[in-house]
Amino acid sequence: MKNILLRFAGLVGLAARLVGQETDTFVSLRAPVIALTHARVIDGRGTASRDDQTIVIRDGRIADIGPSAATFIPPGARTLDLAGKTVLPGLVMLHEHLFISARAVPSFHVNEMEFSFPRLYLACGLTSIRTGGSIEPYTDLELKSRIDAGTMPGPKLHLTAPYLEGVPSPITQLHAVRNPDDAARLVNFWADNGFTSFKCYLHLPQEAMRAAIVAAHLHGLKVTGHIGAVTYREAAELGIDNLEHGFFAATDFVRGKKENELPSPVIVAASQDELDVNAPEVASLISFLVEKHVALTSTLPVFEASVPGRPLLSARELEAFSAPSRDSYLRTWARVNGPNDGRAASIWKKMLILEKMFFAAGGLLVAGTDPTGYGATIAGHGSLREVELLVEAGLTPVQAIQVASYNGARWLGVEKAVGSIEAGKAADLFIVAGDPSKDIADIRKIETVFKDGVGYDSPKLIDSVKGCVGIQ
Ligand SMILES: [Zn+2]
Repeated sequence: MKNILLRFAGLVGLAARLVGQETDTFVSLRAPVIALTHARVIDGRGTASRDDQTIVIRDGRIADIGPSAATFIPPGARTLDLAGKTVLPGLVMLHEHLFISARAVPSFHVNEMEFSFPRLYLACGLTSIRTGGSIEPYTDLELKSRIDAGTMPGPKLHLTAPYLEGVPSPITQLHAVRNPDDAARLVNFWADNGFTSFKCYLHLPQEAMRAAIVAAHLHGLKVTGHIGAVTYREAAELGIDNLEHGFFAATDFVRGKKENELPSPVIVAASQDELDVNAPEVASLISFLVEKHVALTSTLPVFEASVPGRPLLSARELEAFSAPSRDSYLRTWARVNGPNDGRAASIWKKMLILEKMFFAAGGLLVAGTDPTGYGATIAGHGSLREVELLVEAGLTPVQAIQVASYNGARWLGVEKAVGSIEAGKAADLFIVAGDPSKDIADIRKIETVFKDGVGYDSPKLIDSVKGCVGIQ
């Protein structure tokens, strides 16, 4: 017995040591003072990129930034000459998950990706993320504490509690909120356990949504929603802080919609197919959301996957998948790209226009990846695709980067600390070989990602999870 206990204690000790070494394996640059010289800088504030800049990082923070000719490099600084390269702000994206859809048939099921996703997010330049709903809350909390302690590589986590879904819950892994008291009880419980955002889901009716919003706001916390039984306008009236999925989830345009009833996806799609983006009801909804300070999260990659005629995932993404997940993705992609009536493509174009309209009207547009759907969207890689698709929607590259960095920080209320490249802020930034201000696809050529001034080897992080996505 004693022997077994000793051996068990040995295994626990080994696991603890391995966890301690995990982060260091991927650190490529750590020094008290670092100077990034001759870099092109995109600052995250939507301003034009600036050439030949020097950024001085001291003790994890941006100490100085300015033209290379006029910026003092402290003696003893580790210097990186970045001529021809671009430095971008660490991305702050708001519809992230620590899980992926593993199966749609026979029933929808997600698997927690506690090993691969934190690494992929960080590797792809995301230094802060808000999750968009939890399936394994205790795993999410444990990941956050390990990443905060520096024993595990990953982005800074802002956690959204388990979904607030109404009755019936279509997904076995979600609890169905029974009534307004139940909604408030859950918000209080998860707030006390360290969750800082809440997400109302498809079937949640108005009264329960109101109770959740009131309870969250009493904690000084925010509420978002991927809703449907409640319209965008109704949710904005109730005081919701954020709506997910651009206008893809809006049921406001369904004619004859019954209160608190979720229309079928076919009916919602028909309403979008008939929608005239120049109709007064569209302008009126957008200006109401802006007036009520409701942010809108763009999550284009998860929808792109179901539109025919769109590109296959990159080789790097296909390599990240486990074999069954890759097979399932390729089969579904082939089905999507088979014979079709062209409706999905026409709705897609309209939804891009609406997101651009919201941004142009002064709305707080934020960005997310949402690795769900049929499993075609992967953490990190899909996040960079989101930035590319914002450009397809008509934003300039620097505006798209602002949406995916500074705007996310604003929603989280952390914009004084992160979200742009400015003196005094945390040194959360990443280096790409190329110029994303001219060709947004260059954003994928990531070499090093800095989080709090520590440089991580992006390709090494990506290589470390090959074959894992879908499994762990
Ligand atoms: Zn989601």
